[in-house]
Amino acid sequence: MLEFPHDTHTHSVYSDGVGGIMENVAAAELRGLSLVGISDHTHYLGGKPFNRYLREIRRWGGESDVTVLAGIEANVTWEGVDVPPEIAGKLDYVIASVHLWLDDPGEYIKLAELALLDENVDVIGHFGASFPYIGYPDGEDLLGLIELAEERGKAFEISSRYRVPDLDFVRECVRRGVKLTFASDAHRPEDVGNVSWSERLFRKAGGTKEDLLFGELL
Ligand SMILES: [Zn+2]
Ligand SMILES: [Zn+2]
Repeated sequence: MLEFPHDTHTHSVYSDGVGGIMENVAAAELRGLSLVGISDHTHYLGGKPFNRYLREIRRWGGESDVTVLAGIEANVTWEGVDVPPEIAGKLDYVIASVHLWLDDPGEYIKLAELALLDENVDVIGHFGASFPYIGYPDGEDLLGLIELAEERGKAFEISSRYRVPDLDFVRECVRRGVKLTFASDAHRPEDVGNVSWSERLFRKAGGTKEDLLFGELL
């Protein structure tokens, strides 16, 4: 059993997931989660699909004992984060993730900075997922990024799918009051709530409910 049963990163058929929103919510119920977020990719969700997406999340959320939040996973590009303010304004939270293929960790840090400076962004998704391939930034760059998150009131997710960020990073977030959230990044309903790695790391880092982005809803 999870002590902080929540998962703020799940995908559905509205992007590249295989389950319906109702199925993600049902899976969250089965798993005993208190809170689940639906966070499909922005580039699938322009115009009409976005309105349907939001209606469905509100509908199934209204029928469940689980708190169901409407999120989105946006892409961080060199032009900024691809979520328009009119969409962000209707959502409970916005995740921004780096999905670009990069050659070095310095570029990754620059993109993460862009995301932290964007007022529509709430959470940085799977931070550092590509470091094993592109190399690791130095400690100073990482510290600078956490400081920026602290200044701008942004959160980082702890991704059980990619097993990032690392313990030192999460510890520093807790020390500075930078909020955290658990993420399965499920693309199938049966993976919703697979966040035990996130919780283990969070507890090792000394995290408590106050350190969670949606702690007051748990
Ligand atoms: Zn992603
Ligand atoms: Zn994702």
